[in-house]
Amino acid sequence: MLQPSPQRQKQSASRPLDFVALCPTSALPDVPDEDSHNPRAQARSDMMLRWLTACSVLAATLLWAPAGVLAAPLAGTLFVVDPGHGTRTIDGRPLNVGAVGRHGLAETLVTLAVGEDLARLLRQAGAHVVLTRSYTRPWRTGRVVRLDNRARAALANRLHATAFVAIHADASRNRKAHGTSVFWLRSNSLRLAYAMRAHLRALDLGESQFRRRNLAVTSEARVPAVLIELGFISNPFQERLLATPAFQQRAARVLYAALAATYARS
Ligand SMILES: [Zn+2]
Repeated sequence: MLQPSPQRQKQSASRPLDFVALCPTSALPDVPDEDSHNPRAQARSDMMLRWLTACSVLAATLLWAPAGVLAAPLAGTLFVVDPGHGTRTIDGRPLNVGAVGRHGLAETLVTLAVGEDLARLLRQAGAHVVLTRSYTRPWRTGRVVRLDNRARAALANRLHATAFVAIHADASRNRKAHGTSVFWLRSNSLRLAYAMRAHLRALDLGESQFRRRNLAVTSEARVPAVLIELGFISNPFQERLLATPAFQQRAARVLYAALAATYARS
């Protein structure tokens, strides 16, 4: 059985007067003082019972339903969140470890942290989330990088996911290169891509690229799919930002906001 969340408990505790307003005792039918075998008294008693039941249902609806809607705007959705890289061969050799910054920050750790934060936010909003890598299973096993990337998106297809989100951090030989990027391929991803672009502005890192791109994950995905680059790990300033849990959580909130803007029920 579902237990009320602390949020719901807080809300219901803060609104005890609503019930009184909805169901004023002055509106209660008179309690019959006749013999309970009297048919008229029985009818009044039945009426009172129906009134109290209706009142309880109305009060429960108003007390609980708005909290439920607020707490689960993404109920009924399923997202596959793909923290990029983190793949090794079956005998443990690195296969797809991603970029490493000048100060030693590994892209694979950033993508995993942001992916886990994003998954938590989505689940709190009522969504189902499947992570292609997680804190409990940080490494994938594969033989060919492109096939491993395709397998991540294929999972989203198999699950008929609402959307697939691949998370990466960019790298360039030009250490001044900076900014976030959004890539997609199919037209069913366009709405999500624009939402991502709009919300990524909040990170204030500038924009590097926003375009259709035939990547392993975007070409494999039949469901709406985007690949996000959260800034350049090769840029010393952006590397320092990407390394902090505060920034990682902000990035996750931005990705969450874009998904919620696109898929939350109104
Ligand atoms: Zn990457």
